[in-house]
Amino acid sequence: MVAVTAATPGNPPGRQAGAADVIVVGAGLAGLEVARRLAAAGGAGRILVVEAGPDAGREHYRWADEPARADARWLDPAADPHLWQPYRRTDAGYGGIAGLRRRLGGRSLYWGGVALPIEPWALAGSWPDSVVADLTGSWRGGPPLYESVAAQLRQWAGSPAGAAQPSHPLVGREFAEAPKAVRQADQGGRWRAYSPLDDWPDSVELACDSHAVAVQVEAGRVTGLLVERAGERQLLGAGRVVLAAGTVESSRLVLQALHQVDGSAPVELPGLADKVAQGFMAAFDPAQAPPSVKAFAESGRLFVSRADAELRSSVFLRCYLNEHGLLIVDCYCMGEQLPGRAGRVWCEPGAQLPWPTSVAGGLSPADEQLVLAQRRELRRIHRELCLEAGTGGAEPAFESAFGSPDLAERLGAGAAMTTAGSTATYSFPIGSEQHESGTLPLGGALLDEHARVRAVAGLSVAGPATFPRSGAANPALTILALAARLAADLAEELADGAPDGSTGRGPGTC
Ligand SMILES: Cc1cc2nc3c(=O)[nH]c(=O)nc-3n(C[C@H](O)[C@H](O)[C@H](O)COP(=O)(O)OP(=O)(O)OC[C@H]3O[C@@H](n4cnc5c(N)ncnc54)[C@H](O)[C@@H]3O)c2cc1C
Repeated sequence: MVAVTAATPGNPPGRQAGAADVIVVGAGLAGLEVARRLAAAGGAGRILVVEAGPDAGREHYRWADEPARADARWLDPAADPHLWQPYRRTDAGYGGIAGLRRRLGGRSLYWGGVALPIEPWALAGSWPDSVVADLTGSWRGGPPLYESVAAQLRQWAGSPAGAAQPSHPLVGREFAEAPKAVRQADQGGRWRAYSPLDDWPDSVELACDSHAVAVQVEAGRVTGLLVERAGERQLLGAGRVVLAAGTVESSRLVLQALHQVDGSAPVELPGLADKVAQGFMAAFDPAQAPPSVKAFAESGRLFVSRADAELRSSVFLRCYLNEHGLLIVDCYCMGEQLPGRAGRVWCEPGAQLPWPTSVAGGLSPADEQLVLAQRRELRRIHRELCLEAGTGGAEPAFESAFGSPDLAERLGAGAAMTTAGSTATYSFPIGSEQHESGTLPLGGALLDEHARVRAVAGLSVAGPATFPRSGAANPALTILALAARLAADLAEELADGAPDGSTGRGPGTC
């Protein structure tokens, strides 16, 4: 990066005119995919991705580490130096393992690869019709985005071209293997999920260790981005900025930008939603295990029964033999937390940038109802399994409070079980599913249907912050589909109008 002067009162930050035509904030799943797609479309001029964290290697953590160490990196906040919570917590939500992974690649180097579309019942009525049509009907005269992006992921993973998985009936539900954008190593239990870094175009510049402090807005238009690197601040000139810094950081950056246009703009965004996720593990004697479950155990894979509008929860099932010779059934519901006022992001405005940011991650009464409905379904599934096996077994016992503070130990319970009939339960504290979304919904008051911030020309948002509702599905497929859509829209806009001149020196690379 070029030499800059520290930004202090009376000593404005160094200005680098025309640093890029488009700056993308955040080198995670959404930001990298937008940049990659934009570069592929051509004609966008200079694209720069600004990332707060370092280039700490471009490998997925399950590829870089052996399984036990990788488990620790996921489940022990102290085991990953990149875990980052750039906000103040005000309740039990968004602590522990929740948060960003501040490094080049972001959580694209951590995700599990489960790629499911948001269910029709969650899209209908809440998402703008034009976006639903692009995702599920037809996009730009071709196949719908969900179909083309899923095909791209299958191709990357080397899976067969056909999408449909055979369905297996169990406990009154239909289960199919969960679609995963994953490549397996030949041995050692290592695997990796898709990251846009795997197919990274040289033409896109990456600036690591560069924290986006604020979007610069003049007369209602984006003119650049204020970044801090090694304690020094610099204004990077650009006419277009895409915020893809994760839901909470993107929310802060939008709130700050809105205030530059209107000093009375709100400083709080409701709608922050993660997932309601909980499950049980049960041990069976393999000789007596339900025959249908044995078939699942042989494959060792993850199966899913898709969510309906009533339970609003996917049911996942994984069966395996533990080292004590018991067949473990791990069954969990992952359901939709409804966006509302219980989850929110807000800032304390002031002269000092960045504004201090807080989150609340509570359960609304509707979420509490979902917790109870999931528990009824999980107990029913366990009962049915025991009936089929002709064995008894302790009914899964859930604590009254939702969100296991000792999640890591509970997730390890199945592997440690020594007695058939044992059960254990777990629930993910809000935020720890890492599916936080919903503060800047597409087609809402702040964002139009193309993810442009209505009040600030040149500013767009990518990532799950833009989901009007998240349904029960894991978010990545939708993140990637919307990234493709945003990149194509941006490329078209830039081709229509002259992008800002790009005259300055590059800001340095990772
Ligand atoms: C262990 C794990 C398993 C998961 N499994 C799945 C799964 O199977 N399926 C699924 O759909 N989802 C899964 N997820 C969730 C998924 O990874 C996230 O939903 C997704 O990565 C979010 O994408 P994003 O681009 O919004 O955020 P991120 O990928 O987190 O990227 C945000 C980036 O922005 C950077 N940043 C933030 N603030 C600033 C700033 N001010 N300046 C500059 N840079 C900034 C961050 O450092 C980060 O690199 C999983 C997540 C984890 C952690």
